[in-house]
Amino acid sequence: MIASKQNIVNSDIPDASELETLSKEFEDKSPQEVIDWAFRTYGSRVAISTSFQAEGMVILDMAYKIDPEVRVITIDTGRLPQETYDLIDKVRSYYELPIDVYFPDASELEEMVNKHGTNPFYRSVSLRLLCCGIRKVNPLNRALEDLDAWMTGLRRGQGDTRTAVRKLEIDSAHRGIAKINPLADWTHDQVWEYIKIHDVPVNDLYEHGYTSIGCAPCTRSTEDGEDPRAGRWWWESGMSKECGIHLGPAWGRTT
Ligand code: SF4
Repeated sequence: MIASKQNIVNSDIPDASELETLSKEFEDKSPQEVIDWAFRTYGSRVAISTSFQAEGMVILDMAYKIDPEVRVITIDTGRLPQETYDLIDKVRSYYELPIDVYFPDASELEEMVNKHGTNPFYRSVSLRLLCCGIRKVNPLNRALEDLDAWMTGLRRGQGDTRTAVRKLEIDSAHRGIAKINPLADWTHDQVWEYIKIHDVPVNDLYEHGYTSIGCAPCTRSTEDGEDPRAGRWWWESGMSKECGIHLGPAWGRTT
């Protein structure tokens, strides 16, 4: 439990050069050590951002056991699978945790749908990025506005775009705040072993062949041997399997 999280003030948090140094040191630390450091350093100005995939649930479970008052934020794109909505409600009662849900801006959504239709993402990459920008990137930007750090479930083994993920990064897309990825060096098997040992609730879609879960119209199950993120935007070729929330500031921005 964090005894003095309310007492932490902005001047106590590491600056960019300190974060850079710590980033190297943290590579040998366990996820729980990294999470504990984050709570002691940032207090109430750090949150877990999760889409409730397996890795996010592991982080949430670990964090809850260190500090049951952990702040959890998520983006409801409006197009999530029913199974994800069911899991969000299950997490609320299982951990007795409030979850801060951020939604897309209604006027941005109205403009996009009225101009391009309900499912524009199948028609072109630029329309897919427009949708991801409005439904995911922009709400996340809003969620991070009052934070000094955020925690994610990113792992290096999740695909080509994530091989360089570090446990502690400077998030240049969001005012240089700290981005903390405690599972950066974990494998898929370590994640699922933790879930099994600690009886962590997970999305039912994993039982139906899904290996990465995003919005319902943009996610399908995968076959044995396929890349774990092959089911995301499967109709696109030559594009990275990212929505933009973990990429640079220009990715998917619509405003
Ligand atoms: Fe839109 Fe699909 Fe991106 Fe969800 S994953 S925000 S539905 S393009």
